[in-house]
Amino acid sequence: MGVDLFARCRDYEVARAARAAGVYPYYQAFSGPCGATAVLDGRTVIMCGSSDYLGLAADPRVIRAAQDAAAAYGTSRAGSRMLNGGTPLHAELERELAAYAGMPDALLFPTGYQANVGTIAGLTGRRDAVLVDAEAHASAYDGAALGPGRAARFRHNSPAALDRLLAAQSGDAARLVVVDGLYSMSGESCPLPSMITTCRRYGARLLVDDAHGFGVRALDVDGVDLLTVTFSKALASVGGAVLGPPEVIDYLRHHARAEIYSAVAPPSSVAAALAALRIAAAEPWRGARAVAAAAALRAALISMGHAVPPGTGPIVSLPMPDLPATLAAWHGLLAAGVYVNPVVPPAARCSLRITTTAAHTDAHLATVVAALAALS
Ligand code: PMP
Repeated sequence: MGVDLFARCRDYEVARAARAAGVYPYYQAFSGPCGATAVLDGRTVIMCGSSDYLGLAADPRVIRAAQDAAAAYGTSRAGSRMLNGGTPLHAELERELAAYAGMPDALLFPTGYQANVGTIAGLTGRRDAVLVDAEAHASAYDGAALGPGRAARFRHNSPAALDRLLAAQSGDAARLVVVDGLYSMSGESCPLPSMITTCRRYGARLLVDDAHGFGVRALDVDGVDLLTVTFSKALASVGGAVLGPPEVIDYLRHHARAEIYSAVAPPSSVAAALAALRIAAAEPWRGARAVAAAAALRAALISMGHAVPPGTGPIVSLPMPDLPATLAAWHGLLAAGVYVNPVVPPAARCSLRITTTAAHTDAHLATVVAALAALS
């Protein structure tokens, strides 16, 4: 008899111990919509964990668009887009995403995770190298691992480290560099102009995953070869897309297995993303408001003596010394009516991830600052 595969599950104590201590923070069930506040176990809490940066997940215009699309096209296309097709809404969203971002063309994926995995694995060949920023999203690493090429990582936000890694690649390898536009855990931005210059020096192609910045702030895409985006954050839905040159998009249409072998996004999700995209374009104050709220929160934490990473987006990271302190702080904030994300390895170093949205009022933010002050 060999080793039982399930033995590791029986021995997995981390979640059980946290549950026993009453500080297990994951897989909560909320009632009602996810807005500036949310209802957890009958209590209204200020939601500083979601990525609904523009405050559109409970917007009546977005809900209506999803309802209308479900009524017109049904709840599911029951198959892959390649074989069974999408709807006019799918093509419309691709056109509008490309126009909004200033990229030539776009291809939808069922999720942003699949957009990264499908693009990176689908585009690269056996001889190629995929060079990924050390703090890029897991989906970039999963795409690099799944594809036939070689994967390597370079020091976070370091064009010099990228330069050294590019110089070390053999001449016959095509190179794909992957960075996040806005890092999801630390809230830091990518130094894009230097990354672009470095990639150009070696003829490498650059993919920017702008999951957290897209719709919130404008990105200068001059020099960006491929852009991946998600609809599960600013666009108040679920889904993702890759944006790039038409010939690459068409190649991916026929080589991105994460798209070809998965279901087409439901019309209601596509319609919600389309409605949210139009609102993002028409109401740029929303992104600006979320970013300004985060800047104010960062300043408040710094004045309390915390070493908060610099950021230009709606994500604030409060470093924590270790796992017990992270869970205790998460629990303390929840008791004070503020829901944040506890971040623990392997996702990133221990921290609290605090997000702001256009829907948070000054009163909400004052409560969040007071709850954070009470922690220290
Ligand atoms: N990229 C980044 C940087 C992300 O943070 C996420 C989601 N956490 C994704 C990609 C995946 O997006 P989705 O939720 O659409 O799968």
